Amino acid sequence: MRLYPEPAREIPVYAEKDVVVAGGGPAGVCAAIAAARCGADTLLIERFAYPGGTATASLMGNINGYRNQKKPDATQTVKGIAAEIIYALREIDGLGVSPYEQEEYDMDKGELSYSYAVDTEKLKLVLLRMLLDAGVQMLLHTMAVDVIMDNGNLKGVIVENKSGRQAILGKAIVDASGDADIAAKAGAPFWQVIKDEAPRMSDNLMYKVCCPNATDSDKLHAVKIGKTAIVWGPGGIVMNGCDATELSAAEVKVRQQVYDHFESVKAKIPAFKDAFIVETAPMIGIRQTRFIEGEYKLTADDAINGARFDDVIAISSCPIIHFYGYRRYLEHEGYDIPYRCLLPRQVENLVVVGRSISSEQQPYESHRAMAPVMAIGQAGGVSAALAAESGISPRKLDVREIQETLIYQGAELRMEI
Ligand SMILES: Cc1cc2nc3c(=O)[nH]c(=O)nc-3n(C[C@H](O)[C@H](O)[C@H](O)COP(=O)(O)OP(=O)(O)OC[C@H]3O[C@@H](n4cnc5c(N)ncnc54)[C@H](O)[C@@H]3O)c2cc1C
Repeated sequence: MRLYPEPAREIPVYAEKDVVVAGGGPAGVCAAIAAARCGADTLLIERFAYPGGTATASLMGNINGYRNQKKPDATQTVKGIAAEIIYALREIDGLGVSPYEQEEYDMDKGELSYSYAVDTEKLKLVLLRMLLDAGVQMLLHTMAVDVIMDNGNLKGVIVENKSGRQAILGKAIVDASGDADIAAKAGAPFWQVIKDEAPRMSDNLMYKVCCPNATDSDKLHAVKIGKTAIVWGPGGIVMNGCDATELSAAEVKVRQQVYDHFESVKAKIPAFKDAFIVETAPMIGIRQTRFIEGEYKLTADDAINGARFDDVIAISSCPIIHFYGYRRYLEHEGYDIPYRCLLPRQVENLVVVGRSISSEQQPYESHRAMAPVMAIGQAGGVSAALAAESGISPRKLDVREIQETLIYQGAELRMEI
């Protein structure tokens, strides 16, 4: 490859914050809200025009994982901000019919079921309101493209947007890019399955249809909201979601397949007879890219045996959906996610949240569901706020302090403080 020597230059410092969150997906939004609720001056950077990440920009309007989908499911393993989002959506008639078989729990009694179909437009509104209420400053239409390092300490990020290239400084940084973009740029070790050399989940384009004659009782494998449904669309693509050329080629391919795909779906589902496509997701849904190598790496045994850890900061009870070739339900009420999985090796002042935390493939396929991802995000936000306040790296925090704050914020950790 030819190289071009980009000249060094001075760039404006856009902001100096306590906590900077890069990425406004389900994890990043919860991280930013949690940090701001701790009193941290917090900035959320997001490449799209709205928050929500895969849930909105890839139309993945089905939030799974508030408790085990099958028995034993007596414990609601995700509460906190992730639960507040569902209640806020209910207030504005933003919930639909989840395609997943499940026991229905009573929201009026404060209990959530495994899965909720959500109106992706109303989700954008709810997330914006919650971010604003918490006092989070947002910088949308902005990519975090590089890092500011000082001797292994992350001091901030470089961003690019319509205003040009700018620096943003933070006392603590949360990488919520889903792709561990910040951790990778900072030199933290990570692993990734780029081609199909090892089992991994593939990528799909979701699309929304209007189905005027469908009723709530129709059995559709689709996310049903009123007279619309979101369909799992073409894809099954295995590519490197961090490579612009491969991403671009994948978009070109799946977008040409959408109408043929829908014809084959229509042929199988009578309720879709008069349905038509109203929208494709702005971006193909990317299920997995980089995973950091953290202070601890969750193992398949941890997930299958329901491991408990002293430094628990979130819980996942979701099935492992792909690795074993079938949907492997957990035979317990969730495994703990330890704080150490959020701490990348070799880089200070950085917490990684969301789908790219330190994990083997199998547990990832459980805790990548959006409810546990949001619980992990909330924990990362609390940790960053506490680190910024005390002026120490997140790695050096007393985890009891994080746990106490999470419980105070309504999170479920299955422990007494
Ligand atoms: C096709 C598909 C189907 C799925 N089905 C389900 C399901 O039914 N139920 C369920 O619960 N989960 C499902 N998931 C999984 C779930 O959506 C993801 O695991 C979850 O969204 C991950 O959240 P996240 O916040 O870690 O990352 P993401 O959702 O990927 O969000 C990352 C955010 O960071 C932003 N970003 C990335 N890089 C940068 C950067 N450098 N600078 C600034 N911003 C950046 C992105 O724009 C995005 O907003 C599905 C995923 C896919 C792709």
